[in-house]
Amino acid sequence: MEATQFTIDAARSAVVERKTSALALAEAHYERIKREDGQIGAYLTLCRERAVAQADIIDRMAADGKPLPPLAGVPVAVKDVMSTRGVRTTAGSKSLDKYIPPYDCTAVARLEAAGAVVLGKTNCDEFAMGSSNENSAYHPVRNPRDLNRVPGGSSGGSAAAVAADMAIAALGSDTGGSIRQPASFCGVVGLTPTYGRVSRYGLIAFASSLDHIGPLTKTVKDAATVLGVISGRDPMDATSADVPVPDYVAALEKPIHGMKLGIAKEYFAEGLDTEVRQAIDRAIGKLKELGCEIVPISLPHTPYAVPTYYLIATAEASANLARYDGVRYSRRARNVKTLSEMYRRSRDEGFGAEVKRRIMLGTYALSAGYYDAYYLKAQKVRTLLTRDFEVAFRKVDAILTPTSPTPAFRLGEKSNDPLSMYLADIYTVTADLAGIPGISIPCGETQEKLPIGLQILGKHFDESTILRIAHAFEQGQRRAEGS
Ligand code: GLN
Repeated sequence: MEATQFTIDAARSAVVERKTSALALAEAHYERIKREDGQIGAYLTLCRERAVAQADIIDRMAADGKPLPPLAGVPVAVKDVMSTRGVRTTAGSKSLDKYIPPYDCTAVARLEAAGAVVLGKTNCDEFAMGSSNENSAYHPVRNPRDLNRVPGGSSGGSAAAVAADMAIAALGSDTGGSIRQPASFCGVVGLTPTYGRVSRYGLIAFASSLDHIGPLTKTVKDAATVLGVISGRDPMDATSADVPVPDYVAALEKPIHGMKLGIAKEYFAEGLDTEVRQAIDRAIGKLKELGCEIVPISLPHTPYAVPTYYLIATAEASANLARYDGVRYSRRARNVKTLSEMYRRSRDEGFGAEVKRRIMLGTYALSAGYYDAYYLKAQKVRTLLTRDFEVAFRKVDAILTPTSPTPAFRLGEKSNDPLSMYLADIYTVTADLAGIPGISIPCGETQEKLPIGLQILGKHFDESTILRIAHAFEQGQRRAEGS
């Protein structure tokens, strides 16, 4: 097996047993990036110096026979919305094309403290706004499984990097589906934790009450490992929860026999692609064979989720993006005559069309006279959506849905139609609105060999259960492929 095909366990064991070194692992990945990334476009910035310095620390620990941390020598990629000290961080925006953060995002710092080697920063939709990565101000990302198709968004670079073996694991961010949807489009595992599970310190804010950081990996076990490392209270983020972090990896082996899995009819309505539906039905059948009980449920407010999400997300974005005024942050327009012209032109030149659209929508929803009708109403509906899940979780342990209504679409197919792009998030935004965890795992492919993702949603702070179900399903798939 090539070093670039390793899972976390395989990579770490190879380093521990000194069959390879952290440096050799990093170099093998940089070689592959050099060969493959020209056509995929997953990375925006590589940080070789930082990677080599970190690999060196790990290799010296290994040489000294010291105990190695859980991600020792594992090459990882980080979505470019997470701040990295001394390494350019653009958020996919021209407005931050020269931004070098003076500090590290907590999730990144925790990865490195656990021995991971950060290879570089991955491409994404500008300020994480998008479902196809076509809103990156730099270049689009192509889906490694079919270069004419999008990798999903907004963590498209992270998903593509893992899918194309250009990183063993990656961090992404999910506000309305941006970890799970690209994972599903690229055929990898993507997990959005409970809101508050992982600190947002150092994450460039899109919509603060919805933003989550989480892993994209090749296997469910790898997702469990990364989640264990990045989770937990952080004094730098007041919304990070002081809830004990269980041993996610240990939880994987508990049997799933007898578990109750809910199927909500609202997630199988109009607009769901036939091949996706068939793959999800087969996945449900497999989980039944593994001893789970399938329970029909209803999440009645689901039809309001997309409009609710796009009101709240844009309102929060309009406030969060006010700081990019050419003074406090972001590039400043040149040759301006007045202060207001400086603000106007800096923002006009720095932001792309989708970001501007959202700032305008959000400012409108928050404006006096419309606040009650839009923003306040959306907050009320958000409570109803959260209650839907609370009621459902009294009856079931987890909920199964498709991750996305369609497989990966073609580049350009939806980029001129924002509304149809927004509808791609129909099955993912609900978890972000309710703050519950969700995981997307590969569960099959279309006749054209495009990956299809199964989404498993869980109770607040119960990532262990969804990881366990996902792991059992994945092992079942392996057995089936092997036989
Ligand atoms: N596609 C959604 C949006 O454009 C979700 C983005 C995200 O999760 N960051 O808002």
